[in-house]
Amino acid sequence: MRAVLFHEHGPADTLQLVTDQPIPEPGPGEVRIHVKAAALNYLDIWVRNGWPGIRLAYPHIPGADAAGVIDAVGDGVSGWSAGDRVGIDPTLSCGQCSFCRSGWQNRCVDFAILGEHVPGTYRDYFTVPARNLIGLPEHVSFAESAAASLVFVTAWHSLITRGGLRPGETVLVVGAGGGVNTASIQIAKLVGCTVYVVGSTEDKLAQARELGADVTILRDADGGWSRAVYQLTAKRGVDVVVDNVGEATFAHSLRALARGGRLLTVGNTSGPQVALDNRFMFGKHLSIIGSMMGPHQDYVTVMNLLFKDRLRAVIGARYPLEAAQDAQRALESGQHFGKIVLEL
Ligand code: ZN
Repeated sequence: MRAVLFHEHGPADTLQLVTDQPIPEPGPGEVRIHVKAAALNYLDIWVRNGWPGIRLAYPHIPGADAAGVIDAVGDGVSGWSAGDRVGIDPTLSCGQCSFCRSGWQNRCVDFAILGEHVPGTYRDYFTVPARNLIGLPEHVSFAESAAASLVFVTAWHSLITRGGLRPGETVLVVGAGGGVNTASIQIAKLVGCTVYVVGSTEDKLAQARELGADVTILRDADGGWSRAVYQLTAKRGVDVVVDNVGEATFAHSLRALARGGRLLTVGNTSGPQVALDNRFMFGKHLSIIGSMMGPHQDYVTVMNLLFKDRLRAVIGARYPLEAAQDAQRALESGQHFGKIVLEL
């Protein structure tokens, strides 16, 4: 079968397409997926570039998101058959630890993500525990399911389960075009919030308005946008800031918050070291709420909203598996709006 893999950290050129990978056999409790679509996440770039302490079993296959058709069923799996169209929860968990037993699979002591801790989805076939599956209705495409999975469960868990978003609140999303941001804008509107978006280009802001953003602000390098938010909210600030940019924006995001506000973060595309002025923290009664991925219940909840057309998977570009290098370069360029999908 075909797979895209790499043997060392480095730029997109390190990705290789091979055609001689063995087709994996599903173990007990697992199914084998014939992949029809795999979506890219910024995680793929972090893993390819590497970080101190990362340990990969080479060659490594990237990719957290996929959707496809069940191709083979392992022992002990019931309720699923070959030929079923499925989406896949990208979080792997042990099912045994105290976190798993209380429903927090994304806090599992053996927590893993497809394509980070184990080989991923840039390939024709892979195996996954049957408990990670969700059935895809006929009207939902493989590309939509793959594009939604990681970013929608991440955004839902951050905004709703952890962030406790309530109708009538004001929400600022820092960044317009990324997958988590396009999900966050829609989820905040679904809840009944007023949504502010700071974005890097007028084009991306126009697309954010199409997704429901109420107020859009062009991002400038010196953080003047946080002052703009302050002015636009009659010097009150917003109740919630969604900031997955990190280093470049965190200080301004704290400044844009109202008293009692919450800063939600699930990542840091600009870098991990953030500056904190502690006077903001206690003086404004602020909370910073971090989370990663989401438990399976959140995955099921948010995917059902996609299936009912209450949320929309935003796909910015599609590439064949052979063009995985170009697809990752496009993601790194930050020019696109929405998700980049490999179609197999
Ligand atoms: Zn566990």
